Amino acid sequence: AFDPSALTWRNRHAGLGPAFGRAMTGQPVSDPEWLATSDEAAAELGWPADWWRHPLALDAHAGGPSWPGSQPFATVYSGHQFGVWAGQLGDGRALLLGEVDTPHGPREIQLKGSGMTPYSRRADGRAVLRSSIREYLCSEAMHALGIPTTRALALVGSPTLVRREEIETAAVVTRTAPSFIRFGHFEHFCHHDQHAALRQLMDHVIDAHLPACREAQHPAAALLECVARRTAELMAHWQAVGFCHGVMNTDNMSILGLTIDYGPFGFLDGFDPGHICNHSDDRGRYAYARQPQIGWWNLHALAQALVPLVDAPAEAAAEILGAALEPYREVFPIALDALMRAKLGLAVDRPEDRVLIEDLLQLMATTKVDYTLTWRRLSAVSSVEGREASLAAGPVRDLFLDRAAFDAWLNRYLARLRAEGSDDAVRRRRMDRINPALVLRNHLAEEAIRAAREGNVDVLKDLARLLRQPFDELPDDPSWRHATALPPDWAGSLEVSCSS
Ligand code: AMP
Ligand code: MG
Ligand code: MG
Repeated sequence: AFDPSALTWRNRHAGLGPAFGRAMTGQPVSDPEWLATSDEAAAELGWPADWWRHPLALDAHAGGPSWPGSQPFATVYSGHQFGVWAGQLGDGRALLLGEVDTPHGPREIQLKGSGMTPYSRRADGRAVLRSSIREYLCSEAMHALGIPTTRALALVGSPTLVRREEIETAAVVTRTAPSFIRFGHFEHFCHHDQHAALRQLMDHVIDAHLPACREAQHPAAALLECVARRTAELMAHWQAVGFCHGVMNTDNMSILGLTIDYGPFGFLDGFDPGHICNHSDDRGRYAYARQPQIGWWNLHALAQALVPLVDAPAEAAAEILGAALEPYREVFPIALDALMRAKLGLAVDRPEDRVLIEDLLQLMATTKVDYTLTWRRLSAVSSVEGREASLAAGPVRDLFLDRAAFDAWLNRYLARLRAEGSDDAVRRRRMDRINPALVLRNHLAEEAIRAAREGNVDVLKDLARLLRQPFDELPDDPSWRHATALPPDWAGSLEVSCSS
C-alpha cells in the first residue's frame, strides 16, 4: 500500500530563497472528486496504482492540505509573450509541492488550478475543467508518443464555479516533471539585474539536471547549448507528429526541452503548414510551420538572459553564447530528417530522400490531406508490383483528391523502397511504431469534455487508455472506430483559445 510518510520531500527550487517565489498553501476547490489518475505516471514515481485511495490524497491533489512533509511554493518567472516583453508572470495558478525521489531520479510534483498566488495578477488562480482535461490527456498522449513532456498524474474535478467567457467548473491537474523551470525563470532575474540569484538558478539547474555543464569553461554557455540541442530535438518531434503548441511564449519553454503548458494546442488534421491552432493568435506567430523558428527566437531570449553569467565583457559574452546556440541549426534539420525518413520506413539514408519527403508534404498541403492518416496508411503499400500492390495502396490513395499526382509520387516511393531492398513486412512494423494510429484530435478531446460535463468520465478514461497505446490498432469496438477515421465536419468549427 501507498505510504506517504515514507516519501522524502525536498524543494530545491524553494530552497534557493525568497527571491524565487513564495511558500504558501493552496486554496482547495470545493467538493473535489477524482476524474482520472494515471497509473503510468504513478509508476514513474514508483507509486502503486492505488495511491489515490490514501485518505489524504484527494485533498492533497485538490489544493490542500498538502502531503505531510511537502513544502508548497509558487515560483516567480517573467517572459516574452507573442514576441513582446511581458514583465513578471509566475505560478499564478500553479503550486510546486516539492520533489520526491523516484526510481527514475527526482521528480517535481506540481498542482495547476490550486488557487491564487502572489503571481495571479488579476486572474483567479483556477483552471477550468475543459482545459484541464485537455492537459491531462495530451501530456499522457505525448509521453506515449515518445515526445519529451511534463506528465499528468491526476485530474480532480469540482463544482467550484469559475468565470471565463461563460461560467464553467474548476479542476486541478497534478503534473510531474524533473523540473518545471522555464526560460522565463532566467529572464526574470536578468531583467531585474539580480545576478546573484541568476547564478544560483543556473547552478541549481546544472547541479540537479545537467551536471556535465559544470566542467565547461563557461558553464552558462554549456547549459545554453544543452537547452538548444534539446529544444531542437523537441521541435523536430512536434513537426514530425504534427503537433502545434499554440503559445510558445518564453515562459512556456522548458529549460529541459519538455513540452510544457498545454493550452490551445492541437494536432494537425488536414496538413496545412500555416495552421494556427490558437484562436487568439491572429497573426499566426505560432503557426505550425513557424514553430522551429520560434524555438530559435526563444533560445535567443534565453541567451540574452545568460549574458551576465559569462565571465567576459558583455560583447564577448554575447558572442560566446551565440556560438552555443549554433548547434540548434544543425541538430534540428538532422533530427527532423531522421524522423521523417523513419516515418517513410526508410532504413538507409540517401540525399535524394529530402525531395521525396518534401514532395509528399507538398502534395498533402495542396488539398489539406489528413496528416496522421496519410502516414499511418502509407505503411500498407506494397513494393511488390502487381494487382495486390494497387489494392494495398488503396486506403492511403483514397485520401488524395489528385490521384494521378499521388500515384506518381507513390511510384517514386516504391522504387526507392526497392532500391534499398526493403522488406514490406519489416518496413510496415517499423512504420507502425512511429506513425501513430491515434493522436488527440480536438474533437476527441471535445467528446471527453462534453461527457465529463454531464458527469460521465468513461469517455475520458477510455480515451486516455487508447492514447497510451497510440501505435496499436484500435480495438474493433464500434464506439471507437471514429477515433482513427477522418474528423467529423463539426471538428472544423471547434475554436481553442488562450482562455483556460
Ligand atoms: P499562460 O498563457 O497560460 O502560459 O499563462 C501566462 C501567465 O498567466 C502565467 O503566469 C500563468 O500563471 C498566469 N495565469 C493564467 N491563467 C491564470 C489564472 N486563471 N489565474 C492566475 N494566473 C493565471
Ligand atoms: Mg504558461
Ligand atoms: Mg497555460
